Amino acid sequence: MGTRPLLNRRLDGLGTTIFAEMSALATATGSINLGQGFPDTDGPEEIREAAVRALREGRGNQYPPGPGIPELRQAITEHQQRFYGLAYDPDTEVLVTAGATEAIAAALLALLEPGDEVIALEPFYDSYAACIAMAGATRVPLTLRAPSFRPDIDELRALITPRTRLLLLNTPHNPTGTVLAPDELTAIAELAVAHDLLVVTDEVYEHLVFAGAHHPIAALPGMRERTVSISSAGKTFSFTGWKVGWVTAPAPLVAAVRTAKQYLTYVSAGPFQYAVAEALRLPDAYFEDFRADLRRKRDLLAGGLASAGFRVFNPEGTYFITTDITPLGEKDGVEFCRALPERCGVVAIPNAVFYDDQEAGRPLVRFTFCKKDEVLREAVARLARI
Ligand SMILES: *Cc1c(COP(=O)(O)O)cnc(C)c1O
Repeated sequence: MGTRPLLNRRLDGLGTTIFAEMSALATATGSINLGQGFPDTDGPEEIREAAVRALREGRGNQYPPGPGIPELRQAITEHQQRFYGLAYDPDTEVLVTAGATEAIAAALLALLEPGDEVIALEPFYDSYAACIAMAGATRVPLTLRAPSFRPDIDELRALITPRTRLLLLNTPHNPTGTVLAPDELTAIAELAVAHDLLVVTDEVYEHLVFAGAHHPIAALPGMRERTVSISSAGKTFSFTGWKVGWVTAPAPLVAAVRTAKQYLTYVSAGPFQYAVAEALRLPDAYFEDFRADLRRKRDLLAGGLASAGFRVFNPEGTYFITTDITPLGEKDGVEFCRALPERCGVVAIPNAVFYDDQEAGRPLVRFTFCKKDEVLREAVARLARI
């Protein structure tokens, strides 16, 4: 095959994700896996039944329409109106995607030119770096630093150059649990307008906010026209395997994202789209109970981690807790996470894998709490031994 590397230069360094290594370690050692963020309990029974019904009745078993089935696009617009007062046209301003992951990929591939700069909150969700690289663009991190993990607006202002094309936001933020506050969003929005930047905002944890509220940046003055908002059914309804996500944005942005999306998957998840349309119309009580349940799980795990000697950064949102292992006499999260399964039978993720700035992430370790109470209690008991 000659001497030329097979993997192209754009993808260099993006070889394997830490999740594969850590999940394999969890299996090999019989550990409790608090690494990867997926619930160990499925979402609402009636929504599962809605998917079964669609499948049995032959709805969605063949290619659904490219933008998504009309019922789901309608339900997405109703959801945006109901929770945020945002109005979108279901025919031209909504796009259904294969999870938020495809929405992110399609948005970045459609909107970026090679050489463009993208400012993203660091630590990054792992697909951001890969998609920015595949688009031939350059990522510019705005680092969220312990202990507050707030964005520094002066630092953001200084990072903007004539080549900056896009701000890539994530609120609530994985893995730090930061929820961008109204004043932060306002300051970010003013910079986006002043520099004519596009904003892509990943809001998959919109219904997991424990302190304050989720505020979509698209609702701020001057932002609707430049913002691609992304969310997904996976986290909100505990069906991460269904991979139903969506984009809401003005028609020209949706048309651009759709152009890339149609050559990635074209369409996906036909029968599940019908079920997610029903899920989005669940009464407020579903969303309130879901949040209360996860808040309780957060407190259970946070308390256990603190008792075990970790420094705990209590998350405002998401289902992750970031900790600092320094009080345990540890320095390096990667080494710590590689040894943890042998030491006490628990798997976690070193936050360093989400950073370009290795020093900022080195002592930080992430645990998920979207697991059954008994699993969390057992994990806490095991962690108490270290
Ligand atoms: C889980 C997650 C996603 C992926 O969502 P899917 O709908 O499963 O593709 C995207 N962004 C963040 C921040 C996530 O945590």
